[in-house]
Amino acid sequence: MTTAVVVGGGPNGLAAAALLARDGLDVTLLEAADEVGGGTRSHEAILPGLLHDHCSAIHPMAVTSPALRALGLERHGLRWRLPEIDCVHPLDDGTAGVLLRSVTETAAGLGPDGRRYLALVEPLVRRWDALAHDVMGPLLRIPAHPLLLARFGLPAVLPPAILARLFRTRQAQALWAGVAAHAFRPFWDPLVSAIGLGILTSGHAAGWAVAEGGSQSIARSMAAALLAAGGTIETGVPITARRQIPPADVTLLDLDPGQVAGLYGDRLPARVTRAYRRFRRGPGVFKVDLAVEGGVPWRDERARRAGTVHLGGPLAEVARTERDVTQGRMPERPFVLVGQQYLADPSRSVGDVHPVWTYAQVPHGYDGDATEAILRQLERFAPGVHERIVGRHVTRPADFAAANPNFTGGDILTGAKTVSQLLLGARPALDPYATGLPGVFLCSAATPPGPGVHGMCGAGAAASALRHLGGRPTWQAQERSQDSRT
Ligand SMILES: Cc1cc2nc3c(=O)[nH]c(=O)nc-3n(C[C@H](O)[C@H](O)[C@H](O)COP(=O)(O)OP(=O)(O)OC[C@H]3O[C@@H](n4cnc5c(N)ncnc54)[C@H](O)[C@@H]3O)c2cc1C
Repeated sequence: MTTAVVVGGGPNGLAAAALLARDGLDVTLLEAADEVGGGTRSHEAILPGLLHDHCSAIHPMAVTSPALRALGLERHGLRWRLPEIDCVHPLDDGTAGVLLRSVTETAAGLGPDGRRYLALVEPLVRRWDALAHDVMGPLLRIPAHPLLLARFGLPAVLPPAILARLFRTRQAQALWAGVAAHAFRPFWDPLVSAIGLGILTSGHAAGWAVAEGGSQSIARSMAAALLAAGGTIETGVPITARRQIPPADVTLLDLDPGQVAGLYGDRLPARVTRAYRRFRRGPGVFKVDLAVEGGVPWRDERARRAGTVHLGGPLAEVARTERDVTQGRMPERPFVLVGQQYLADPSRSVGDVHPVWTYAQVPHGYDGDATEAILRQLERFAPGVHERIVGRHVTRPADFAAANPNFTGGDILTGAKTVSQLLLGARPALDPYATGLPGVFLCSAATPPGPGVHGMCGAGAAASALRHLGGRPTWQAQERSQDSRT
């Protein structure tokens, strides 16, 4: 039987392993931690029963991901839950930009900017299922839907600061700024809008979903899919030397390029080792989980019903914080993401005490304490929140890095989203998953389409591995036939 070893059990390693096992390979997955999941785990960090997502919280890209759909995760216990309102970006004057699941209702709430918002997003949302195959894969290939991809690509190449000029109101501009800030890049860089536009479009198509029972449920259902297909999982196995990796026909690495250079540097082509060693990392995050009695008392009533709240003030302020963190300066008022997953999944709360997930964007490797800066941003838009906080748990950039080298310096995107890394991943090559060493593939979020819980980097690497073995991935054929029916 053809064998595969996958090192690292994050969502991409799990997707690669489960898809290869379903296509008949004998797959073993090796994970350093005591449980699989990587950036998709949950824990009771403050109080027994109060469930916090350790990393990923909100999953606009996951529900419609072709890889996760192919695995049929609902059959393995995954249930998506949607908040009433997807995302709110409050402003100091008490108004806010509000993102709803419905693209037309969102546009209606944006007043004079509604028509432009619809024109930008609605044609993409309508055909998201088809577009997802092109957008959620390597960009350097012949697209299946070239016209549709061009419709996405034209605004996506514009820097977020230019695309923001489409809008006149402060609310629509701020809403766009908050979504574009997910790229952790300066707002004057080209192509950065691709990430924001992808999140917006997939979010309207599927909602900003949370997993019932915490994000750990995503990893658990993926692990169940792997085991059901005959795969094996070994946890508590940190790979520090190549000799620990059992021989196999194909090896897939859910690792950051620096680790791959360390493990395989003497066998990779020299240009690949150099590219992996030079791989650029991005800013970090400083995370504070909170236990909040009665929930956050947002001034804007809609934020009390939103799964995600973006705290960064108006467009210009968010643009400044993005510039500062990429240039290594800690802003006084950082951009803060707030997750209120319990609104969609009340099983995470204990009585009237609710888990609130927050992180601030900070410079790479930031070693200061951003707790008070996060709390000030909360207090700015939710006066009185201090009195409701009954517990907190802090995770610093160094803590993320120590638990998982993919998040070195607190860089949760596994690499800076510079133009070249956005387009090419870790190195320029027609196959961004190939390492140059036959049979060895990179499958982490350092490869296209990049960060997020969607498993598409794993699926892309698994497809490359199967082609190397002379086969064809059956899930891609199934997708294509589904696609031609839509
Ligand atoms: C705080 C935070 C918030 C986030 N929020 C979101 C969000 O809301 N929505 C979203 O979609 N995404 C979010 N993300 C990003 C998302 O979690 C990552 O993009 C995703 O987990 C990347 O998946 P991966 O499989 O490539 O790598 P990872 O999830 O990093 O998994 C890599 C795995 O490999 C293991 N490993 C590493 N080195 C070794 C080794 N030498 N030997 C054996 N095993 C090893 C690690 O332990 C880990 O389990 C967030 C991440 C963080 C940290």
